[in-house]
Amino acid sequence: MNQPYFLANNLVLDFINSEYGTSDEYHDYLSDDESTVAWLKSAGCLPTDYSEVPLGISEKAKKLRTVSREMIDSAISAVEYDPVFLNNLLDRGKPAEYIEWDNTSNNFKRIKQRKNNNIESLLEPIGNSLATLLCSEEIRSIRQCEAHDCTLVFLDKTKSHRRRWCSMSLCGNRKKVAAFRSRKQQSD
Ligand SMILES: [Zn+2]
Repeated sequence: MNQPYFLANNLVLDFINSEYGTSDEYHDYLSDDESTVAWLKSAGCLPTDYSEVPLGISEKAKKLRTVSREMIDSAISAVEYDPVFLNNLLDRGKPAEYIEWDNTSNNFKRIKQRKNNNIESLLEPIGNSLATLLCSEEIRSIRQCEAHDCTLVFLDKTKSHRRRWCSMSLCGNRKKVAAFRSRKQQSD
């Protein structure tokens, strides 16, 4: 199996990209509880030595992925959507926040960390990223890759706002070669 893609410049969009492709090319990195925890680790949401696999996290993560797509659509198209699922997740998964003395800088340091190992706590960073994106101007910079057979989405952070491809190596070069071939065929 391929590696998951982290090319969206945004955590919740990378999370949406955990499912991509059609028919033979289809991948879902949230297909079971273990692969869901593995995805969260590779996204940096959990430490690499984290080993617990909560039962049912795949199902909840897939629901969050569906809700993420729907809420982003709702924000872009200005159609009201009930945020109850996201609010519950953020409430139940709320991280612990406190300050402690840091001996390196000799100053107080603010700490924010996962409160426990419940599913909501594990998925909270994704929910937080979604909430931030929904309420930000960046929602207008979400793009889908222009390749017709590519479902990947990303945040266009280029100054010109003209990023067209999920990545040059995946689709950009492929499409350039295809365009060159079809131009060549027309001139032959
Ligand atoms: Zn693409």
